[in-house]
Amino acid sequence: MRPASDAEHPIVGTGAARRTERHPHTLGWTHPPDGAHARHHPASPAPTIGEVDTELRQTLHRRGLRMTPQRQLVLDAVTELGHATPEAVCTRVQETAPAVNITTVYRTLDLLEQLGVVRHTHLGHGAPTYATAGHEHVHLVCHHCGAVDEIEVDALDQLAEALHASRGFRLDATHVALSGTCRACAERADAELTVDTEDTP
Ligand SMILES: [Zn+2]
Ligand SMILES: [Zn+2]
Repeated sequence: MRPASDAEHPIVGTGAARRTERHPHTLGWTHPPDGAHARHHPASPAPTIGEVDTELRQTLHRRGLRMTPQRQLVLDAVTELGHATPEAVCTRVQETAPAVNITTVYRTLDLLEQLGVVRHTHLGHGAPTYATAGHEHVHLVCHHCGAVDEIEVDALDQLAEALHASRGFRLDATHVALSGTCRACAERADAELTVDTEDTP
């Protein structure tokens, strides 16, 4: 029920605009709930787009897409974090733009990947991790401690050639990681094994 004051003072001008934004459902609009709707209108001023974004801006423009502060912030987060899950990217972006949500980050990462600006790698069972497009390595992931090491792609050249020759298979060694035990974990396991053996009568 509307307050009596609304009837006494017909809504006009900017007051009306503000009111409809706060109460979209009373007008039968199909916007998401107020909370989600509000996310598209961050209260804090949008970050200034500096010269660093030129390359992304050009890439977007070539595809007829618009540069937005969110897109730049997501790319910046991927660049700074390295091996960043969407959640980690979201957390970093929210430091600057608190209104950005995980859905926007997912969509932006997908877009940036389609544009060839970022690429994703599966390092383990969890979410994929994102890096800038130039980041091409074979990843070695320790399944004990989660440590990530990187080797050059050509380290697997021999395997890649053999697979291509025998099966016509073209190896993409960068998409998933090789899983194993890192040196530190292996040495610790060996040491524990030695202690156990010494304790045994
Ligand atoms: Zn990497
Ligand atoms: Zn380890």
